[in-house]
Amino acid sequence: MVSNPSYNESKAVAAEQTTAIVLRTIEFSETSLIVTLLTRDFGRVSAIAKGARRPKSTFEGSLDLLAVCRVVLIRKSTDALDLLTEAKLHRRFRAAERSLDRVYAGYYIAEMLRLLTDDHDPHPDLYDLAINALAQIDGDGNVALAMLGFDIQALRLLGHSPELRRCTDCGDVVARESRMVFALLGGGVVCHRCRAKQNQTVSMRLESIDHLERLQSANVSLPIEVKPQVYGELRAVISRYIQTIVGTMPRMQRFLPTRLTTGD
Ligand SMILES: [Zn+2]
Repeated sequence: MVSNPSYNESKAVAAEQTTAIVLRTIEFSETSLIVTLLTRDFGRVSAIAKGARRPKSTFEGSLDLLAVCRVVLIRKSTDALDLLTEAKLHRRFRAAERSLDRVYAGYYIAEMLRLLTDDHDPHPDLYDLAINALAQIDGDGNVALAMLGFDIQALRLLGHSPELRRCTDCGDVVARESRMVFALLGGGVVCHRCRAKQNQTVSMRLESIDHLERLQSANVSLPIEVKPQVYGELRAVISRYIQTIVGTMPRMQRFLPTRLTTGD
């Protein structure tokens, strides 16, 4: 384990090890980077990697966007940035060798993980989901399905799964009709009586509702299966619902596939 002498005088706690996905790096000084990581054990973490910008740095390659690495962190008290003392590369994100769609999909995952998580709030299951989604994108998985599956399961793991049975306003069981109304702010379907009160709604076919219900169950893992005629509507509803939850349109959302093609 590496220790950094210059940090000994401050209130550093013991070094901790975990695995991490690199979500973003920002140049901090001539020689250092600030790295945003999703760690498996500590959630999202922002840390300084001293010397990471030097040629022949020990971090070389391991802090590239979406790299998966074994890291050693020194957690700082209060508001100070953590210190990243070691990062050993496990897997590089290599979608750039394949297609731009796969690169954008990776950027989307990095952005979503930054938007949906808080510092030091661990979600090991979300971390594992992201690793699976990246493996799909970086391998031969269908990009559209990997992204939709990631979104729907990430929403479930963070407690945001849409309610598809009961009215999100009055709580009554909603009649299952060929078209149903999904309230974005309420996060689910609404009954006839409550429809007029909702500000932002989208219409969904029952087939899409049924698909979504199946895809957001806890025993679903990637890759998922979706009928091509359902994909477009599901993708649109999930994207708008995510905008409502995070309060903004994720920058990379516009690059998500709007249609499901099997030859991807
Ligand atoms: Zn109602």
